[in-house]
Amino acid sequence: MLKAIQILGCCSSGFVWKPRSSGGLSFISVSAKPLSYSLSSGKATRMDSSFLPEFSVRRARSLRAFRASSARSESNPDGRSASSSSVAVQASAGNVRKINFCQWCGGPTKHEIPDGEEKMRAICTVCGKIAYQNPKMVVGCLIEHDNKVLLCKRKIQPSYGLWTLPAGYMEIGESAAEGAIRETWEEANAEVEVLSPFAQLDIPLIGQTYVIFLANLKKPQFSPGPESSECQLFSLDDIPFNSLAFSSMLVTLNLYVEDVKAGKPKFHYGTINKRPGTSPSDIHAFTLDYHLQS
Ligand SMILES: [Zn+2]
Repeated sequence: MLKAIQILGCCSSGFVWKPRSSGGLSFISVSAKPLSYSLSSGKATRMDSSFLPEFSVRRARSLRAFRASSARSESNPDGRSASSSSVAVQASAGNVRKINFCQWCGGPTKHEIPDGEEKMRAICTVCGKIAYQNPKMVVGCLIEHDNKVLLCKRKIQPSYGLWTLPAGYMEIGESAAEGAIRETWEEANAEVEVLSPFAQLDIPLIGQTYVIFLANLKKPQFSPGPESSECQLFSLDDIPFNSLAFSSMLVTLNLYVEDVKAGKPKFHYGTINKRPGTSPSDIHAFTLDYHLQS
């Protein structure tokens, strides 16, 4: 079923956060005008990963109308293994039949479509509460320093030994920017200043949305955190595209390289959809749909 979606407050420049000495954030200037994307029946650009690594993306016009498909939140594989907030691309999402007990009272659940709804839910047979499942937000930083970007080599599964931007699950009680700064500190021992949002990438199949910020190092110091075996600055021509951990990182870094070579980073929105019949572990087997940029 098609649904109209409105995205408000997207900006291409002007939102600036400055970390407070306490480690929190203060909002020091807002100059961007809120934008709105009105969606209709048009179809936006599709980028197929078969173009990679050359990454020849057919551009979608900014603020272009597009059609959004409903999320396939009940058909994903279950491969989540990370115990911390670090990114687990094969995370379980939407498999309601794996919810067998109520998170509030511990009672057994039944699996039914509630009156007035369309999706199967886990419903507690004791207290009657419904366990709704919603996507998780992953936040991270694309750190620019001396015309290079900072990557971390993962020391944990999934994708052990592969490179990623510092990123992880947003926690309750923090903003997306605060979470990105925290994850960068945890994975790279790097203090960063968030400059602007760079990309929002939805992955409906696994119920994740990535929000990646451009950031600068406050001090030219970094080192591997507990979840990383190495942290390294890469020039754009040396980014290890064949050894990246996740599709989201492949998309983010390709968009960034393309933007820098064109003169200036933009803000990107897109949906990463796995190509049917491909391996969940193949990070190249996807299409980037509904790619918008401003
Ligand atoms: Zn209950």
